Amino acid sequence: MAGIDMRNIVKKYGDGFPAVNDVSIDVQDGEFMILVGPSGCGKSTLLRMIVGLEDITSGDMMIGDKRVNDLAPRDRNLAMVFQNYALYPHLTVYENIAFPLRLAKASDQEVDEKVRAASKTLELDEHLERKPGNLSGGQRQRVAMGRAIVREADAFLFDEPLSNLDAKLRGQMRSEIARLQKRLGITTVYVTHDQTEAMTLGDRVAVLKRGILQQLATPRELYDNP
Ligand code: ADP
Ligand code: ADP
Repeated sequence: MAGIDMRNIVKKYGDGFPAVNDVSIDVQDGEFMILVGPSGCGKSTLLRMIVGLEDITSGDMMIGDKRVNDLAPRDRNLAMVFQNYALYPHLTVYENIAFPLRLAKASDQEVDEKVRAASKTLELDEHLERKPGNLSGGQRQRVAMGRAIVREADAFLFDEPLSNLDAKLRGQMRSEIARLQKRLGITTVYVTHDQTEAMTLGDRVAVLKRGILQQLATPRELYDNP
């Protein structure tokens, strides 16, 4: 695990107004950080710069004590948990979670130990032989997290993971993510435009507007000083 320290990050697309304008956010090791703001405020751009899918115009992106500006995504050891989960439909839950270990040519014994430990933590141990098509949205989300856990990723990144769900499921998943994150204690950056998610999920909330960091505070502080 590691913290993510964004220092004076700027992103310009072409000559326009910066999409991200001198943003500094210090995500602590194990912290759950929310990035919130209206559409177009720069949330996804910031997340993509953390992951390495977007070049940084200026500033320093630190993961742990390493500057990663010039590192390829595969060398950053982060796990993006995608909205559509990116699971393999033809593979079982077990093999979906095992996938990164298979790629890394881990032994069958190591694969088995890690997959079983992760699926226990995520309460998926009874579903290991099922295929993603037969799982609920929440279970699929957990399989995607399981894949990140076995890889021992330094941090989880979520980009509006709940935005396609109906209100009821969104509420359930929200509590599930909060519960799992507490239990795993893994550094998390979570992008949303939803105020309720921002105020209930995070340890701290970074509020962005037109590329500028407006506030960086705990939900309680934001509640007292809106
Ligand atoms: P959010 O995720 O908060 O909706 P984005 O990070 O997607 O915001 O976008 C921030 C700003 O950058 C917007 O003005 C958007 O139009 C612009 N932008 C995003 N991606 C690109 C791109 N690939 N090329 C040019 N402008 C972009
Ligand atoms: P593969 O997953 O088949 O090894 P990729 O090039 O898609 O090949 O990814 C290699 C590694 O790069 C992944 O295991 C992951 O660590 C990292 N990576 C690529 N894209 C992303 C992303 N969007 N979010 C997080 N990590 C990524």
